[in-house]
Order: sequence, then C-alpha cells, then structure tokens
Amino acid sequence: MLKKEFLLSIVVPVYNEEGNLQKLYDELIETISTYNYEIIFVNDGSMDASKEIIQALILKDSRIKLIDFSRNFGHEAATSAGVIKSKGNAVVIIDADLQDPPELIHKMVDKWQQGYQVVYAIRGDREGEKKFKKFTSSLFYKIMDYMADIQIPRNTGDFRLIDEKVVADFRKLKEKNRFFRGLICWVGYKQTGITFDRLERFSGQTKYNYLKLFRLAMDSITSFSVKPLQVITLFGVILSSISFLLILIFIVIKLFLKFPVSGWTSLIITILFFSGIQIFIIGIVSEYISRMFIEIKNRPLYLIDKIYSKEEKDG
Ligand code: UDP
Ligand code: MG
Repeated sequence: MLKKEFLLSIVVPVYNEEGNLQKLYDELIETISTYNYEIIFVNDGSMDASKEIIQALILKDSRIKLIDFSRNFGHEAATSAGVIKSKGNAVVIIDADLQDPPELIHKMVDKWQQGYQVVYAIRGDREGEKKFKKFTSSLFYKIMDYMADIQIPRNTGDFRLIDEKVVADFRKLKEKNRFFRGLICWVGYKQTGITFDRLERFSGQTKYNYLKLFRLAMDSITSFSVKPLQVITLFGVILSSISFLLILIFIVIKLFLKFPVSGWTSLIITILFFSGIQIFIIGIVSEYISRMFIEIKNRPLYLIDKIYSKEEKDG
C-alpha cells in the first residue's frame, strides 16, 4: 500500500543556529524537493540571527513555517511544539546542526512506505563525540533499561520519522516532563531503525552540558519508572531489619556481658553512613515530588510569540 500522495513534515528545533540554517535548508531541499513537504522551524528563543534567517527563507519558500517561542523553553519543548503543529502524514524530526544527515530521510520514507509507523536513526559511528560522553550515554541506557518498563533503542536521538497516527497519540499526552524518545517508544506500533554515522556539528557549540544531560536523564527515568522508589523502600526494609537485630544484640551485650563501651569511630561512621543514605533517599523522593509539583501547576509546555508563514503574511 504505497502512499503516493502524502505530505511530509520536517520539524527542526532551533536554538542559536545561525551558522547552520542556510546549509541545512539547502541539504534538506536536495533530499525532499521530490516530496510534497512542509518545514517547521521552531525558534526556541535564539539570541542570534536564527529568526531573521528563517524569515528570509520563508520569503523564498512558502512551504516553510516558523514557530517563534517567547523565550528558550528547551529542546524537548521545541520538538513537541513542532510535532504538535505539524500537518503531515509523516513527520521527520531533525536537528539544525547537520549532525543528522538529511539524505537519510529517503530511507526513512521507504521504511514508512513499507508499513513502519516509527523509523528512528541509530548512530553508528559517533565521530563528533568524546569518549566520556559515549560512556555516560551507555551508562544512561543501562540504567534506563533496568528502571523503565520500556526499552529505548540504544544510540538514538530525536532524528526519526513518525506516522501521523503516532503524532495524533502524541497530541493526547498532557504531561509536562517530556522525554520525546521515551514517549515515542512508549506509544508502541511497528518501529524500526536505520543506522547512520553521526557527523560533527557543522557550526556552533552543543547546547547540552553535563548538567543538562543529567537533568534529562533524571527526567526520563522518573517519568517512565517508579522503580527507584520501590528500590529505596526495599532498601529501607532491609536496613531497619538489620538495625533491629543490632539493637537486640547490643541490649543483650549491655545487660549480660557488661562490655565497656568504647568505639567512638564506629559510632560516627555509622551515623555518617546512615545520614548519607537518608539524604540520598530524600533526594530521590524529591525528584518525584518536584515533578508532581510541575504537573499540578499545569502550566503550558511553551509559549508561542508568533507563527510566521508566507500565507499569513500575504493574507
Ligand atoms: N535546541 C533547542 N533548544 C535548546 C537546546 C537545543 O531547540 O534549548 C536544538 C538545537 O538548536 C539543535 C537540537 O536542539 O537543533 C540539538 O541540540 P544540540 O546539537 O545542542 O544537542 P546535541 O546534538 O549536542 O545532543
Ligand atoms: Mg547537535
């Protein structure tokens, strides 16, 4: 059941990408000009000339749209906004920095035509990345596999094609803590991956530092799993049983054996050890509470200042 007449939406989150946009557009067009397409740039509060460059592109190509955020809301919010506003039968999410090669879109569309609803790109060789980043990323996937009830495919980013059916489901999700890759995995359907070699950023710097990556990891684990809470409960049960036993033993020793109590060192070590564990446990619980706080406030994921497109300008 080959779909001949279809609209392909390309969603590009943009944050300070002035050096990449023209080249991205040129490369995209080379690949998608044979399709019926729309390109949705989401300007996530860029402070450079990204917005003006996209506005200039709109004048040349009426199939481009720009969603302009009121400030920087983050990569996940920008991706969500683009996907939610897309009209295509298939939607491709691609980074603006040319780390995701546009020519892969052909292969994605082919797989989609074969009946897959999600086609994600797997990073084969990660040329542009340091060893430490690769290590932390593989550690993250290991923890995620253990903790969450979903299996997120390894070495994938947001670069993927999703069917309009998945987009419709995605629109129904109301949660604020979004981990796009995880959610797309969670919806199910027929999914497949294709491998590519990830290149270095064409221009500019990565916007993810380790602190941001850590927040992302915490978001993704806590939004897909309550296992950390279960683990600490189990931990608490084991520790209090041990403590109870020790208390009994110490009482017996005190009453019947009359040992002189020395050992300040062991006492202080025990106190430090258990207070450390308690703070760690409170920390994990707070991660969940803070997310509940955010969900309860129910603020929008992002605020759109304006949507620009050729039609709106003309009409
Ligand atoms: N991005 C965004 N908002 C942000 C940070 C990043 O829209 O707050 C965009 C950025 O412009 C790029 C994509 O998200 O198109 C991926 O960002 P980046 O290349 O910095 O991440 P990395 O490839 O290093 O994981
Ligand atoms: Mg990048």
